[in-house]
Amino acid sequence: MNALMMQQPLLISSLIEHAERHHGATEIVSRRVEGDIHRTTYRELAERSRRLANAVAALGVGSGDRVATLAWNGYRHMELYYAVSGSGAVLHTLNPRLHPDQVVWIADHAEDQVLFFDLSFLPLVEAIASRVATIKAFVVMTDRAHMPAASSAIPNLLCYEELVEAASDRFTWPRLDENSASSLCYTSGTTGHPKGALYSHRSTVLHTYAAALPDSLNCSARDVILPVVPMFHVNAWGLPYIACMVGAKLVFPGPFLDGKSLHDLFENEGVTMSAGVPTVWQGLLAHVEANQLQFSTMRRTVIGGSACPPAMMRAFQARYGVQVLHAWGMTELSPLGTACCLLPKHAQLDEADRLAVQAKQGRVVFGVDMKIVDGDGQALAHDGKTSGELLVKGPWVIRSYFKGEGGDPLVISDGEAWFPTGDVATIDADGYMQITDRSKDVIKSGGEWISSIDIENIAMAHPGVAMAACIAAAHPKWDERPLLVVTRKPGSTVDRAELLAFFDGKIARWWTPDDVVFVDVIPLGATGKMQKNKLREQLVGYQLPTLQQPATAAAR
Ligand code: ADP
Repeated sequence: MNALMMQQPLLISSLIEHAERHHGATEIVSRRVEGDIHRTTYRELAERSRRLANAVAALGVGSGDRVATLAWNGYRHMELYYAVSGSGAVLHTLNPRLHPDQVVWIADHAEDQVLFFDLSFLPLVEAIASRVATIKAFVVMTDRAHMPAASSAIPNLLCYEELVEAASDRFTWPRLDENSASSLCYTSGTTGHPKGALYSHRSTVLHTYAAALPDSLNCSARDVILPVVPMFHVNAWGLPYIACMVGAKLVFPGPFLDGKSLHDLFENEGVTMSAGVPTVWQGLLAHVEANQLQFSTMRRTVIGGSACPPAMMRAFQARYGVQVLHAWGMTELSPLGTACCLLPKHAQLDEADRLAVQAKQGRVVFGVDMKIVDGDGQALAHDGKTSGELLVKGPWVIRSYFKGEGGDPLVISDGEAWFPTGDVATIDADGYMQITDRSKDVIKSGGEWISSIDIENIAMAHPGVAMAACIAAAHPKWDERPLLVVTRKPGSTVDRAELLAFFDGKIARWWTPDDVVFVDVIPLGATGKMQKNKLREQLVGYQLPTLQQPATAAAR
């Protein structure tokens, strides 16, 4: 028997229509590339998105065509989110932190037709313009007054504001098939070529509902949200969509992600909630600490993309009263998979025990299903101890990469298709998942796994440590042993002996790193994550001091 309810496709355009009608006067504040603060509202943004949809169509972009951006978080980028996807084309957010060769490769692979870019990326666009095969128009996201002089390197240089002004604001969002493609993001490609995750209107709207929930990212019309996570990194974790759905005020930081710029914006705009990777919060915390500042309106921040060190959580929560929400996801999951919210039974826990729960990546948001399996695909116990490869499925999880790149990514377990995340995790009896490693970062010592994340978290709790990465070093007896690579905080004199002693009592003796290497910088990738593959390359053949004296081994 068929139900008798309306059939209404889930479309991205419905989000901006909703925000325009019901939160029309709510502000969107952007720090522009030019340095000034710009203010608009959902009403204006919706109108300009319709104009832009006409302008994009006039550039020859048709249904399903890819439109690329190289842009920071700002209102023009948000207009593109709605104008491009809403009109049936596909928004492709390129990551400007990638090497130009990679940007060219990805733009060609995606067959991008038009490129919209912020002024700050002019040199990058000049470097790639003659090399990209399919881009036929280049649009600078600025007004006439700030347009660069005609560039011989870039044919067809257009001005964003001129396009918007010249276009009509009469545009009816098409009633698309909800399964049609809406946006495209490439994974950072730590192995092989980058691969594209192609989202649909349906997957995006469902992800938006789920991500806004109180035990997910917990967003409402009472919030002022500042997404630090870039709009070129998995759609800023969905915040440009969530903000429209709930009608939150949005504050965009543009390219200014240093501690002072962010803190000024938090305070001046009354920001209540933010989101970003751990590395960006380090700069903010250092600025706040050094200048003895506080957060007067910030209530919580989402931290994900890499494991959030408990020391960072403690600083935010105990010192500044900012609740940390640890979340896990990936490009292939749109990105949200789990969020770490506490249950009523955790209310009585002391700080250390509460932090131990919060250090986990959390429980699935409704819609996502997950399990851990062994090497044969057999499900493992949810006992918080047994670790295995994490598999996920759900309506916003990919089933195939763009153009079938890399073959069929799914695996069959218990008769159903799952996406293997490449993460190694435990799941406890309450359903809290904890990532212990990515499968390629795992350290395998004498046949047993050592969690590099646990080791990094302890090292990061040392007051003299700015950043810590734990990688495997070759060992003739144990195959691999943990090697800790550390950058010191300014003025810190922490040495090897002090740091290794810091592990005493905090970890099984045989998990203690065999050595510490102090470096000036730990390489970060295009999404702010530590590039352990680079460190492994730099330290290949590293001679552990424990090679001669099996002291650590004897402790097992
Ligand atoms: P890439 O896979 O190219 O690095 P993603 O941004 O999609 O790009 O990263 C997803 C991966 O990031 C996850 O598979 C996981 O390894 C890691 N990750 C994300 N969030 C967390 C977290 N909270 N804790 C630990 N690792 C995380």
